[in-house]
Amino acid sequence: MSLKLSVDWPRCAAHGLCAEIAPELISLDDWGYPTVLPGPIPPQLVRLAERARMACPVLALRMEQVPD
Ligand code: SF4
Repeated sequence: MSLKLSVDWPRCAAHGLCAEIAPELISLDDWGYPTVLPGPIPPQLVRLAERARMACPVLALRMEQVPD
């Protein structure tokens, strides 16, 4: 199993903190909404992804397990 990032869109309020913390994994569009890495999180970036998830003020960033 691998981990993958996703956004709970109804919750996301475009604060942008996630992209500040993990620019390797998340970029912001012109309106400040995040675009996350589409595939599995590289193992060396999992801790960074977790930090970004915890920093989201509205808990809109999710990490879920996906099959390899
Ligand atoms: S920190 Fe949370 S609310 Fe802000 S852009 Fe990222 S996912 Fe959305």
